[in-house]
Amino acid sequence: MLEIPSEMFGPGAKMNLTLLYDEQDAILVDAGLAGCERAIIAAMEAAGVPFDRLNKIIVTHHDFDHLSGLPGLLKLAGRKIEVLAHTEEIPYIEGTKDLTEKVKKAHADLPAEQLEAQLENYRKREKVAVDIALADGQELPYCGGIIAVHTPGHTPGHLCLYLKNAKTVVAGDATVADNGKLFGPAPIFTVDMPQAVKSVQKIAALKPEKIICYHGGLVSERVAEQLLAIK
Ligand SMILES: [Zn+2]
Repeated sequence: MLEIPSEMFGPGAKMNLTLLYDEQDAILVDAGLAGCERAIIAAMEAAGVPFDRLNKIIVTHHDFDHLSGLPGLLKLAGRKIEVLAHTEEIPYIEGTKDLTEKVKKAHADLPAEQLEAQLENYRKREKVAVDIALADGQELPYCGGIIAVHTPGHTPGHLCLYLKNAKTVVAGDATVADNGKLFGPAPIFTVDMPQAVKSVQKIAALKPEKIICYHGGLVSERVAEQLLAIK
């Protein structure tokens, strides 16, 4: 797990990117905020994985705190790094679709100004080309086996990863953690909350021993039990 400071989410806040690696592959899950590229590269080096080994980046979803660092990382690499994402998220990542209609519907009760700020936030998302489309349940033959788990709700094509060897879920924003306690995604940033709760139950069914939340970090106590309790 690479802890990258993200003060825009409050003092001391961090984004928790996941770095998966073995002899063949070095894979980053999510790419942080624009401007954090150097911090990500330094954190990789500190983990003993030089940036020039990075060959894949898996994007859990297109929110700016997961995606806006990606163009900078690709540029700094100056070589091919494959970008992977769930099929349904690709149009949002590539910018051919946006969530404004869904956000308007889901958050119609928000004060107009707040809703407009939300919509503006979705309109200015980064646009990045994706190389490999992932399907629900697909096993990637990297780092001991990584299973793609489609977990819609927070966004339509949100993706979690299940790391077979480590019995660990990389949750993206499907769940958030606070001091070891697990919660569902923040409703205000989620386009379909009932679907997001179903997705939490889908990852609970994997009976993970550990879970890495992008916001809140690693949780390793009573993970499956905590996930089942999210309603
Ligand atoms: Zn996020």
